[in-house]
Amino acid sequence: MQREQLADVLSEFARTMVTDFPIQAILDRLVERIVEILPITGAGVTLISPGRDPQYVAASSSAALRFERLQTELDEGPCLAAYRTGTAISIPDLDQEQRFRRFVPRALDAGLAAVFTFPLRHGDAKPLGALDLYRDTPGALSADSMGVAQTLADVAASYLLNAHARQDLLDASAHSHEAALHDALTGLPNRILLLERLDHALLRERRSDKHSALLFIDLNRFKDVNDAHGHQVGDHLLIAIAERLPSVLRPADTLARMSGDEFVILCEDLDDRAEADLIVARITALLAQPFVLANATLAITASVGVAFAERHAARPEQLLHQADLAMYRAKRTFAASRTDRGPYEPDGHDKRLDLQEALAQAASRDELHLAYQPIVTAADGDVTAVEALLRWTHPTHGAIPPGVVIPLAERSGLIVDIGRWVLHQACTEQHRWQHSRNEPIAVAVNVSAHQLMAGGFLDDVAAVLEATSTDPALLCMEVTESIFVRDGERALHVLRQLKHMGIALALDDFGTGYSSLSYLMRYPVDILKIDRSFIAALGHDSPSTPIITAVVQLAHGLGMTVVCEGVETAPQHHELTRLGTDSCQGFHFAPPMSLADLEALVGQRADGRDLHLPARSRTGCIPSTDCPGGRSG
Ligand code: C2E
Ligand code: MG
Ligand code: MG
Repeated sequence: MQREQLADVLSEFARTMVTDFPIQAILDRLVERIVEILPITGAGVTLISPGRDPQYVAASSSAALRFERLQTELDEGPCLAAYRTGTAISIPDLDQEQRFRRFVPRALDAGLAAVFTFPLRHGDAKPLGALDLYRDTPGALSADSMGVAQTLADVAASYLLNAHARQDLLDASAHSHEAALHDALTGLPNRILLLERLDHALLRERRSDKHSALLFIDLNRFKDVNDAHGHQVGDHLLIAIAERLPSVLRPADTLARMSGDEFVILCEDLDDRAEADLIVARITALLAQPFVLANATLAITASVGVAFAERHAARPEQLLHQADLAMYRAKRTFAASRTDRGPYEPDGHDKRLDLQEALAQAASRDELHLAYQPIVTAADGDVTAVEALLRWTHPTHGAIPPGVVIPLAERSGLIVDIGRWVLHQACTEQHRWQHSRNEPIAVAVNVSAHQLMAGGFLDDVAAVLEATSTDPALLCMEVTESIFVRDGERALHVLRQLKHMGIALALDDFGTGYSSLSYLMRYPVDILKIDRSFIAALGHDSPSTPIITAVVQLAHGLGMTVVCEGVETAPQHHELTRLGTDSCQGFHFAPPMSLADLEALVGQRADGRDLHLPARSRTGCIPSTDCPGGRSG
């Protein structure tokens, strides 16, 4: 009975989350409901921030509230002990208790007879506080009750983390917005903010006769500084550069740090392009003056590349890419001039740019293709959709994993073209297997935040749908929570337009990003894909089970379907089915596979046979297809 009630409380929690979920509401709900489920007379919960007074306290009654406050006041009691040790404390008879010598007599005086305390745990981190259950008669709680209480404490902890993040955002939204847009080391605008400003600059420039220039600065041999003096000195040098550069810029210019030793300056409203050359000269002279740091005096040089915004041209990412390439050419010149150092050795940056240049050509050289991974119904293993996953086979390096390709494409702005290619290819190939089925299969395509936010994305999608005669109802776009961070309003607009076109939307890798459940309320998402980290943790004494339960109920409550990613074993499949997931994806069913293998598989299902793949290995991978981590065979 408790288990059923537990499920009720979990789903109720889930609803609290999507309404307004202030922290106090979560705690109030927790103590109110737990006294209904368990044989106790009161419950209290205190959240503890180290070194500070408890910020939040909730209790089911005024007596319970007194016991919470008493423990804080005395700085002693089971609540603090459970919080400090991270383990539950059971005191079935206070009269017999030897610990807590100040708390116990006063609690007994006030009519308390037994206390059971549970830390609000989340992973290996310090608990957030503790949940106290009180009884006015002595007696132990059953193992089942103890289990239910700890589960609720852990689920509350995971929701509190969300609520904390949200509260922090609200409390200091300006600050956290700043943090998302600035580089932590130097405090300069980061790539996201630079691209935003560049976007505005490009729009403005169309209406004026002024010029905008983008200066890409890369320190020469910065690696030598790190190697010779250590990373701390390297960091100090970067900070010193960030402080020194503004002295040669105008107040309206934007100085941003991209990553490592790369800085970019956006200069707007230039009357003449030659002005940019002057700025470059000033920067070069400025950096040539030695940097006197606490532990070292350093002389450095930099390579600078300049790109200008052509009227009506270029998206921000493309302009940044051009400036990057110009810098790269400057670096080559610099290296060629350094005969004292011997022949020029390409460094990491060079390799990246080589790879980037190769990626730019990859589609036209026929090096890209898509792998497809089936998404099956949890109940009977029917393939209802396939996810298209990008594969790049480099002529010399071989297969380059998406974990490398996608970030590289995003950094360089190539993601816009590559994403368009993926969409076109997926829509085209979909026709190939569609005719062999009565029940159509949808295709899901991953769309990165950069691509979705780039101007012209919606036009691109409409053009591909038309060119490939694709039924939008059979297309799903998978986005991650990162799209909401950059510009939530714009993301919302684009998603609404996609929905308007009839395309389904999935929120991918749910649980790994901001995971703010309020996103789910606001954004028109049809499918929630629970990240594979939750599935991998199933059954390992982690709060995965209650979290998945709550997320599934919440998603269903909002009319979404749930896909669990990374299902690798039959026990995981069974457990997820029990928890109510609609669909599964993972090596247990099928790995990402070639189009030919997919067609064979779909044909086999059409013949009424089960989704048990020919020659499938124990890990569920087909030897002839790609199986991440070399698991095939
Ligand atoms: P994703 O969208 O979450 O795709 C699922 C990933 O999980 C795939 O990795 C798939 O091979 C892997 N996977 C599937 N089943 C299992 C399993 O049972 N266990 C484990 N451990 N892994 C499993 P892949 O193909 O390496 O892709 C990685 C990520 O790269 C994708 O994650 C997606 O975010 C991104 N990506 C792939 N193709 C594209 C694309 O065309 N455009 C964009 N923007 N991103 C893409
Ligand atoms: Mg995906
Ligand atoms: Mg995913």
